Amino acid sequence: MNAPRPADARVRQCVQRTVRADVQALRAYAVAPAGDCIKLDAMECPYPLPAPVRAELAQALAQVDIHRYPAASNAALQAQVRQAFGVPQQAGLLFGNGSDELIHLLVQTCCAPGEAVLSPWPSFVYFEMAARLDHARFVGVPLTADFQIDPQALLAAIAREQPKVVFLAVPNNPTGSLWPDEVIEQVLQAAPGLVVVDEAYQPFAGRSWMPRLMEHPNLVVLRTVSKIGLAGLRFGYLAGHPAWVAELDKARPPYNIDLLTQAALTVVLRHKAVLDEQAARLVADREPLARALAALPGVTVFPSAGNFVLLRVAGAQALHRALAARRILVRDFSSAHPLLADCLRVSVGTPDENAALLAALQDLLNA
Ligand code: PMP
Repeated sequence: MNAPRPADARVRQCVQRTVRADVQALRAYAVAPAGDCIKLDAMECPYPLPAPVRAELAQALAQVDIHRYPAASNAALQAQVRQAFGVPQQAGLLFGNGSDELIHLLVQTCCAPGEAVLSPWPSFVYFEMAARLDHARFVGVPLTADFQIDPQALLAAIAREQPKVVFLAVPNNPTGSLWPDEVIEQVLQAAPGLVVVDEAYQPFAGRSWMPRLMEHPNLVVLRTVSKIGLAGLRFGYLAGHPAWVAELDKARPPYNIDLLTQAALTVVLRHKAVLDEQAARLVADREPLARALAALPGVTVFPSAGNFVLLRVAGAQALHRALAARRILVRDFSSAHPLLADCLRVSVGTPDENAALLAALQDLLNA
């Protein structure tokens, strides 16, 4: 016999008086159920790994001793990541269960309660969420109406707020903007604390701060493999001076990168050329998609250096729903921030997926 359960109302009361009020007021990070939809809402790579790589993967995973915890050191994987992604030899490396985890570690390590985390805004929502969850004070510095940084406003905010951590997504999500090097240089000079250049979309931008990592005392570079075909693995890495990495490592949950992820990465990184080729295809398909979207009635497209495009169109919310009804998922930002009114973000998909999106939008906008 099951023991009697407490009434749901009593559980809710207990939750209400126990869970932090600010957490109760938060909304969980939204992920739309995908089913068999055309999935253009999360900037994933639309190309699955080729069959021979999958076969190699299956073999490697079968060898993993998952009855053991991961080893204390993953030096071989560190060397492979360093080599595959051009991490300078003198830099330290820290691995995260997705770069999301590293964003938390950065805030937890640097910010005492109430200290500021600052970012140009709108940008990646998780910068704000992590800051709030970790008791920091989040300061978003508004972008201009065409989604560029206002350097004066940004530098003034840095002087005023004295942020412990500045997050710069380069290229920026969800706008696709690429902050000029001179502005990033100014931020590095002005910031009293750490500047995190988040290069999640770097593979589609062709520019990187990684080679300049050791030129600044307060720069770390954050990367992820999620956008280059491995979103399901949950692996991100941070490169920076070993003195930063040593402190951040103290806040890292033990064994945060599981053995299956390590084994899978070891295999896939041997085939890095496949990932690079897929990224190059997305870059090649980005401009034709942007041009075709911009040719639709009433659609404004913003220039993007990522594997996605932000567009503005009247009635974006209804369009988002109508596309979902046609089994095409895009991301609706229309109520996320006043600057993003009527904005939708679409990932660059396969040519067929892009064509399906364009046909559906054409249809809906003409109706
Ligand atoms: N940084 C930016 C700018 C992002 O847009 C994202 C994902 N949307 C991430 C970090 C997190 O990526 P992941 O946790 O998959 O590594």
